[in-house]
Amino acid sequence: MSISQNLKAISAELPADVTLIAVSKTKPDSAIEEAYQVGHRDFGENKVQELVAKQERLPKDIRWHMIGHLQRNKVKYIADFVSLIHGVDSLRLLAEINKRAGQAERVIDCLLQIHIAEEDTKFGLDPEELREILEGDPANNFPNVRIRGLMGMATFTDDKQQVKREFDRLKSLFDQWKEQSAAFDILSMGMSGDYNIAVDSGSTMVRIGSSIFGARNT
Ligand SMILES: *Cc1c(COP(=O)(O)O)cnc(C)c1O
Repeated sequence: MSISQNLKAISAELPADVTLIAVSKTKPDSAIEEAYQVGHRDFGENKVQELVAKQERLPKDIRWHMIGHLQRNKVKYIADFVSLIHGVDSLRLLAEINKRAGQAERVIDCLLQIHIAEEDTKFGLDPEELREILEGDPANNFPNVRIRGLMGMATFTDDKQQVKREFDRLKSLFDQWKEQSAAFDILSMGMSGDYNIAVDSGSTMVRIGSSIFGARNT
């Protein structure tokens, strides 16, 4: 199937209120253009250099999502244009995003990345670290960032019950903090292999790469 057919099939499967981020990392401009042609505007990249290069070359109404691990010294390269930063995993990174967003005269939307996988290879905050950040009054201290919600990645496993358990845990953390944070409206969870489970658990945003663009070589 073609990229546009894949997009159509996946969009048809998703509830209307779930946003689909097409993860275009490692893929050429032509692949993004094909999705753009059929009206898709939200794309995700995980490397700053690649994100910046693609943003410069491709249409300016694309909403770019930084979904990968972001180093503080690279925030300045994307602060002018990034639409949503999914992987914020420290207060120091949040402070840097706030500073660069201020210089760019913007408010940048961010998600806090939570470590939900039972394996411990992935980045992210634990519930206690999340509490420390949110109880530190970020809305006041960081006026140029808006924390819109949470993001997480489940363990890469065939055990669907484990994946479901991990997504459910993230959803309940999201619900718990949503009561106190008016701006909380995005729960980013679900990739090609597990987005159906994530949607079942209450995801509002899925990040799908290989099921749209085909397998990656790298
Ligand atoms: C690569 C990536 C995805 C998409 O992965 P697929 O399995 O190709 O759908 C989603 N989220 C993050 C953070 C990624 O790095």
